[in-house]
Formats: sequence, C-alpha cells, structure tokens
Amino acid sequence: MALLTAEQYKEKLNDGRVVYYKGERVTNVATDPNLRACVNTMAVDYEMAHDPKYHDLALVEDPDLGQLVSRYYHKPKDADDLLKAYELIVTSTAISDGYIPLAHDIGADALNAISITANIMGNQDYIDRIDEFRRYLKKEDIASCAAVTCVKGDRMLRPSDPGQLHPDYYVRVVDKNSKGIVVRGAKVHITGAAYCHEIIAIPCRQMIEADADYAVAFAIPPNTKGITQVCRPFRAALSPLEFPNERPMRMHTDSLIIFDDVLIPWERVFLCGEWKFAATMVYNFALLHRRTGCAYRVPMSEHLLGIGVAIAEYNGISKAPHVREKITDLVVYLETLKSLSKAACLDFVMHGDMAVPNPVTTNIAKYHFAHNYHDVVKAIEDLAGGLLVTAPTYKDFQRPELHDFIDKYLGAKKGISTENRLRMFDLVRRLTSADLETICLHGEGSPMAERMTIFMEAQKVMHECKTLVEEMAGIKK
Ligand SMILES: Cc1cc2nc3c(=O)[nH]c(=O)nc-3n(C[C@H](O)[C@H](O)[C@H](O)COP(=O)(O)OP(=O)(O)OC[C@H]3O[C@@H](n4cnc5c(N)ncnc54)[C@H](O)[C@@H]3O)c2cc1C
Repeated sequence: MALLTAEQYKEKLNDGRVVYYKGERVTNVATDPNLRACVNTMAVDYEMAHDPKYHDLALVEDPDLGQLVSRYYHKPKDADDLLKAYELIVTSTAISDGYIPLAHDIGADALNAISITANIMGNQDYIDRIDEFRRYLKKEDIASCAAVTCVKGDRMLRPSDPGQLHPDYYVRVVDKNSKGIVVRGAKVHITGAAYCHEIIAIPCRQMIEADADYAVAFAIPPNTKGITQVCRPFRAALSPLEFPNERPMRMHTDSLIIFDDVLIPWERVFLCGEWKFAATMVYNFALLHRRTGCAYRVPMSEHLLGIGVAIAEYNGISKAPHVREKITDLVVYLETLKSLSKAACLDFVMHGDMAVPNPVTTNIAKYHFAHNYHDVVKAIEDLAGGLLVTAPTYKDFQRPELHDFIDKYLGAKKGISTENRLRMFDLVRRLTSADLETICLHGEGSPMAERMTIFMEAQKVMHECKTLVEEMAGIKK
C-alpha cells in the first residue's frame, strides 16, 4: 500500500461511524459542512507527504516494508530523528495557520508510549502486537488519535473506589472471551477522533491492584460497534461579521467517546490488567506528547508575537517604551519555547531502543508556554486597546452610509488603512479566544502535572547540586 493521498484519507472516513455534532448525527464527516474544516486540517499531513518540498521532512524509507512511510511512525533513534520530528510538527502547524494537522503525531505519541511500556514489561506478546500494529499504521498510512483522558468522575477518588457514583468513569474491561476483551467507559476531549482511522486508547493515570480492570490499552477503528462520539462545537467558518478571508479555515474538534461494551480483538490489546504498568504508559505518553505540544506551539507563539507587533504598529505606538517592553516579553516567550524544545531533543535519553526528549527540559518547555500564555495574551490585549471588543463589524464597514465615517474615524497610523486595522482586530480576537486559552493551559496535561514531573525527574540534578555546595562548605560525608 502506498502513502494515502488527501482524497484517499477522506474516502476512508465514510465508514458508518457514529458521530454527533450539535445534536445531529453526522452522515459522513468528510463531507459534513461543519466537520470538513477539521478533516481538511488533518488532510494537510497527507498533502505534505505528496509535496516533494517536504519529502525529507515528512517521510522516512522503511527498510522492513521497503516503502516510504510517515516520519511520525518511525521509532526515533537519536537527536537527529527527534529534531526532524520537531521540525515536521512546526512546519505542518505553520502551513495550517497554527493548527497542527494531527493525522499521525498524537497517535504516534501513544504508539511509542505503548512500545516503551511493552519493552519495559518484557512481555513478548505485547511487543509483537505493538510492532505488528506499527507496521500496519505505516503500511496503510493510517490516521490515528490518542484517547487517554477518561471522564474520571470524582477526581479525588480512584477508578475502582466504591465512592464513585458508578464504576465506569474510567474505561475498563468488563468481559474477556476467545475473541478479545469487552470495554466500557468514556474518554473525553479526544482531538481528531471523529475523523481519524484508528483510536489508540491508553490509561490516564497510575493504578493500584484494585484498579486492575482499568489498566487497559488498545487500538480500535472508530466505526466499531458500540462506539459513539459527540464532538464539541467549533467555528467552522468565519462569521459574516468578520472581514472575508480566502485562506482555508483550519480547525479541530474534540470528542467525548463512549465505549458501550466494545469488543477489542486480542491482537489490538496492549495492556490488560497489568496495573503496575499503567503509570509507565501514561508517563511516557505525557512526555512525548508534551514535546509534540511544544513544537506546535512554536508557530502559535510566532502568531502571538506577530499580532503584538502588528497591532502596536497599526495603533501608532511602536516606539513607546512600555510597548517595546511588552514586545520584548513576547520575543523572550517565543525564543525560550524554541530553545527549550530543541534542547530537549539534543539532550535526549534512551528508553530501550527509542530516543525520547529530555523529560525535565520538555516539561519545563510546556510549563513555560502554558504558565506565561495568559500574560502574553494580556500584553497583546493591552496593545490592541478597547476596539478589540467594540470595533464596528465588516457588515457595518460595508454599509455605504457608514463606510466613510468608519474609514475616517477608525484609522490611526499614516500608511495603514482602516480596513487593515480592523482586519487585524479580527485576527487578534481569533488568536486570543477563550478556547485557545483553555487548550494552552490544559492540553497535554494541566500545569500541576508538568510541575510534578519536573520535580520528580529533577531529583538527580537536585542531589548533584546539593553535593556540590556541601563540598564547597567543607562538609565531609
Ligand atoms: C482542547 C483540548 C484538547 C485535548 N486533546 C486531548 C486528546 O487528544 N487526547 C486526550 O487524551 N486528552 C486530550 N485533552 C485532555 C487534557 O490532557 C486534559 O484536559 C488535562 O489532562 C486535564 O484534565 P481535565 O480536563 O479532565 O481536567 P481536571 O483533571 O478536571 O483538572 C481540573 C483541575 O483539577 C485539578 N485536579 C485534577 N485531579 C486532581 C487530583 N486528583 N488532586 C488534586 N487536583 C486535581 C487539576 O490540577 C486542575 O487544576 C485535551 C484537552 C483540551 C482542553
């Protein structure tokens, strides 16, 4: 099987999957007037693979299959592999205006986390199954997503705690038979699940022995009997009140996935009751996924710097000292993210036969982005001024009796047209929306998850630094 074209990727989505959007059952996600904006965003990965300009970045020659395959499914072996994957995510996200296409990357993070865990367990069945599944993903050029986050119920209670209102807040195994396992439960916020070809599910937390039924990882096509998805609402097109723009609309949606007694064939089961290894799997997923997240936030941070510089210039305030300060902060924000993300690849560690980005640096990079994001938005909103929320709309600007007044009174800097200033306000509004604020904070894990990992992974350096100062103080042990 050759690499899929964007059209072939879309055709494979018309498979009877059960997907709801705004209370309506979607017949075909690829042609649905709303969801096709998301499908077209995911298709960017497939378009890139067929564009000779991106071959070296997007594809790798697979010696086993004897064909070109997506770089995402290639096991990274060294810093060069990690840096190329980083560059691929940055480039594809830049092409799709700040939305990572997502056809392979988050799924690959789950795939690699499963491989690492199977190797640590030393379970040959699981190693063979995940290797075979990787082969299939590469060969058929499959789009995958990662379903990690369970709905969880009461956050302070364990999955199996009898205090939970019911036992299905975390996905669990309810039956086993000769064909496979039967799973029940729900995952939430799963990006791209409605328009991928395979859902890769892993646990979202560490488990204890009593939680063994919840220690389950598997892969399953979205059209499997018993799977229902409900997509969150999103903006599928510009509003008629915004200035028209010919650039394609890029977007993603996230699904609540309900697994209502779904049969998973044994060959697609990668964890089933080995509760001690749930933590290994989710820990490695979080690490790899935070690296992915940092990479796609580089173009996003470039956009934030860009709108800050542009709106300051359009308002005529670029040279004011406090404005330069704010713009400098935006530059520091972007460059720190880029440097940390690349440093994490260069200072990689080996997990079995796979190179993974440095855990401390990766978590600091993601934490830096999320923790400072709201300050960055605050600076941009400050530079933009109140018109960001009170400016007349495109429709007002189009009214003959209003146009000249708006044009006259809402201009600012000589050489910048009023229309361009209003267009920039539209973009600032889009790029600093509440939706983006939430994904920047919680996507790839809430800030506390990053801080906990940083503290845990930094034990060695903490000990080394303490030993250093003890020596300096003449303390002998
Ligand atoms: C737009 C978007 C896309 C996403 N895409 C995906 C995806 O593709 N796949 C996927 O698997 N997940 C995805 N996620 C999920 C993301 O990883 C979670 O949002 C994140 O892990 C936080 O979980 P939560 O949303 O359930 O928040 P909660 O866990 O409810 O967290 C809310 C607050 O409660 C605190 N908290 C939670 N539990 C405890 C506890 N036991 N003790 C003390 N404090 C606690 C947290 O620190 C936080 O402050 C996505 C999220 C967003 C917003």
